[in-house]
Amino acid sequence: EFMEQQQMFGHPKGLFYLFFAELWERFSFYGMRALLTLYMVDVIFAALAERDFATAAVYSSYGSLVYASTVIGGRISDTILGMRNSIFLGGILMSIGHFVLAIEHNIAFFLALSLIIVGNGFFKPNISTFVGTLYPPGSAKKDSGFTIFYMGINIGGWIAPLLCGWLAVEYGWHYGFGLAGIGMLTGLIFFWSGIKKNVFGNRGLPPNNQVLNKKVIGVKQGILVPILAFIAAPVIAFLLSSYQPLGSEGSFFEDQNIVNIIFKLIGIAILAYLGYIMYQANADERKKLFVAVLITFFMTIFWGFHELSGSVITLFAARNVDLDGIMTAAQTNSLNSMFIIILAIPISLMWTYLSKKNLNPRTPYKFGLGLVFAGISFYALAISASSANESGFVPFYYLLLMYFLLSVGELFMSPVGLSKITDLSPKRIVAFMMGVWFLSSAFAFQVVGFIGKQLAIKSTDKNVGGFETLSVYTGGFELIAKYALGAGIIVLLASPLIKK
Ligand code: GLN
Repeated sequence: EFMEQQQMFGHPKGLFYLFFAELWERFSFYGMRALLTLYMVDVIFAALAERDFATAAVYSSYGSLVYASTVIGGRISDTILGMRNSIFLGGILMSIGHFVLAIEHNIAFFLALSLIIVGNGFFKPNISTFVGTLYPPGSAKKDSGFTIFYMGINIGGWIAPLLCGWLAVEYGWHYGFGLAGIGMLTGLIFFWSGIKKNVFGNRGLPPNNQVLNKKVIGVKQGILVPILAFIAAPVIAFLLSSYQPLGSEGSFFEDQNIVNIIFKLIGIAILAYLGYIMYQANADERKKLFVAVLITFFMTIFWGFHELSGSVITLFAARNVDLDGIMTAAQTNSLNSMFIIILAIPISLMWTYLSKKNLNPRTPYKFGLGLVFAGISFYALAISASSANESGFVPFYYLLLMYFLLSVGELFMSPVGLSKITDLSPKRIVAFMMGVWFLSSAFAFQVVGFIGKQLAIKSTDKNVGGFETLSVYTGGFELIAKYALGAGIIVLLASPLIKK
């Protein structure tokens, strides 16, 4: 069944449809993310002195849930919907979410985030697993397939902040958000045309039509799931917004807000379920699943620092980086993806070259090195303080250097892990395991929230920045650098053991 597929550039043709579908989905995701923190600080929470704190809290809850939902979306796909239906459902939910963001209302704001949360849960794990199904297990082509796919992700992540960031400044926030929605619809059209052209064979169909048509409370499961998905959105919106009494002091500023508590409960439930799956698995599967969980854990540490880019680092760019005439703060969100595009192929060629010489480092070493790169990247931002100009703004090239190093680290870890996960999981739970992989990002957003709150600056002044904020940020970055380096060194030291 792998040989029959039409090929293009030495890869199954289906890869290129998934590539463009994911490119546009990520366009919407990262276009919106580039605006999110600044929009909350400048609009949603503008009246609060604690607006940074509130923004960090919502950003972290949103990020945690947007990735945690992938576990549920993965599981529902494995058991009921199949990957194709899940991708459509997710894409539709996400595009509605983006269009709701284009409406100017605070209540709509939380509903929009929630639609994106649920939508991403159905879309993201399934499109990633879909890529894995195009290749025979363990095939060498698969890694390079995932590298190409990762390029697609980052082409979206590169262009979207530039365009949405530009629209937001020139025409208004809502135009930026609206464009994100159009991007998501474009992605769905690509996916749909792949199906029409029959490039996927029989991949991604529901695992079993009987299950799909089985009636629960009088409704077929295949219909019930989308209904529940749409109902889940306002419920999540209520939770996201219920602890943010705009203007009034209240439970909001207590750290243990309801979303964080629920998130922890979900986390525990998922871990328990994972334990149960491992218990049921045979010895070989269990060993592999254990490694999958371990690399997911290391990935959490990395994303915990990396995902600061959409929050603290965007604020740092707005308040302390001399961007004059180069780009806006929202647009700096494109830098990470830009470097991934530049570096993805050279680094993957480097792995191929090292493999030929039998020197390709094993996954745990790559992960340790990735964390070390993250550490050095934050040092670059920390030392930028010494080059600040008379108004407390640091040269742009420090930010550029930071994103360069961070992107090298990312390429040592993320695409490698993505490909490994599809290898390490038994086929019947592969989408679920992909969800577990993305859980690393979900937990990471708890770290992002914690750091964001530590580095929150009290002010309602639109132009806060310069020396008022410089040392707060660079001091924080120095501490982050130390933690990331420490973690990297520990992983490197433990690598021989994990390799075994
Ligand atoms: N940038 C990658 C993507 O969007 C990885 C994101 C993540 O897992 N946190 O797919």
